[in-house]
Amino acid sequence: MEKTRIKDLAFAELEKLIVSLGEKKFRARQIYQWLYVHNVRTFGEMKNLSKSMREKLHEFCELNLLTHENTKISPDGATKKFLLRLHDGYHIESVLMHSQHGRTLCVSTQVGCPVNCRFCATGLMGLHRNLTAGEIIEQVLLVENLAGENVTNIVVMGMGEPFLNYDNLMQALDILTDDDGKNMARRHIVVSTSGILPQIERFITENRRYRLAISLNAPTDRQRQQIMPLNRKWPLQKLLAAARKYTESNRNRITFEYVLLRGINDSVDDAQKLRTLLQGIDCKLNLIPFNTIYSIYQRPEKEAIMAFYSVFEGVRFPVTIRWSKGADIDAACGQLVTREGGKPVVQ
Ligand code: SF4
Repeated sequence: MEKTRIKDLAFAELEKLIVSLGEKKFRARQIYQWLYVHNVRTFGEMKNLSKSMREKLHEFCELNLLTHENTKISPDGATKKFLLRLHDGYHIESVLMHSQHGRTLCVSTQVGCPVNCRFCATGLMGLHRNLTAGEIIEQVLLVENLAGENVTNIVVMGMGEPFLNYDNLMQALDILTDDDGKNMARRHIVVSTSGILPQIERFITENRRYRLAISLNAPTDRQRQQIMPLNRKWPLQKLLAAARKYTESNRNRITFEYVLLRGINDSVDDAQKLRTLLQGIDCKLNLIPFNTIYSIYQRPEKEAIMAFYSVFEGVRFPVTIRWSKGADIDAACGQLVTREGGKPVVQ
């Protein structure tokens, strides 16, 4: 009989499971705390449960969903990339970055990605499968165990398009922010999407209190379509209208990400168009010089990056250049598992 993967369960499902095992309902709360507050890796450590109950859990439930394969550390020690193995042999990665804002973990939501952004190595893999809620949560828990420190912020920007795995992602984030669970702050969690409009609207309607980022990457539909085919379906004006709605209804600033690609979207003219496009939106703009690896695209010269940046002088919103953390260990966006052993995915 297949074991129940306990971290894939929402709390109400965990209660049902515990009752079905012939135990009192309140035991579910104790188990939940062992999982998400104490972050144990074995049922044997759940000391306030009877021995027979721990044995039952061991017999019927799977506790750990990910196995650590290796860690790469950047020369300055600030970025660590963890290669993690799923039960079916696929690999994903999570990247831990230290900064003045704390310890931020970049988590994956899918094995591969179907969105096919032209500049992205993960996009080249296509989609293999969605991660389950437990596999998303366990990236945080396992990295905390491996690194020996708490994760303070999460950015959902690793492999995959988060909004194409919406339900599992929301279940995972709800558990990570639950007062009775890990109790992370919602405002310390950023979900980054390539622009899946119906799910952005759902996110707004459901009044999810996580922060939202949209990967914009071009100031016109023509340019965006070239590098992000999904723009044909959900063009810029619709996306920006949704972005405005988010800032108004959630009273949160939205982040726009813009990967700078040489000769594609990095001219001063592009910067001026982008500046006009973002006018009046309560936003923050992150410029991300492309990290050239195995790609037909190139990073712009530093002078071109600075010229682009200087167009935003005097704007009312913050603009930062995100010199990709961890580029030296292939930990930049879309450059994760695809490099491992030169193979896209290991089965
Ligand atoms: S950039 Fe994001 S959405 Fe686009 S293909 Fe890569 S992982 Fe998918």
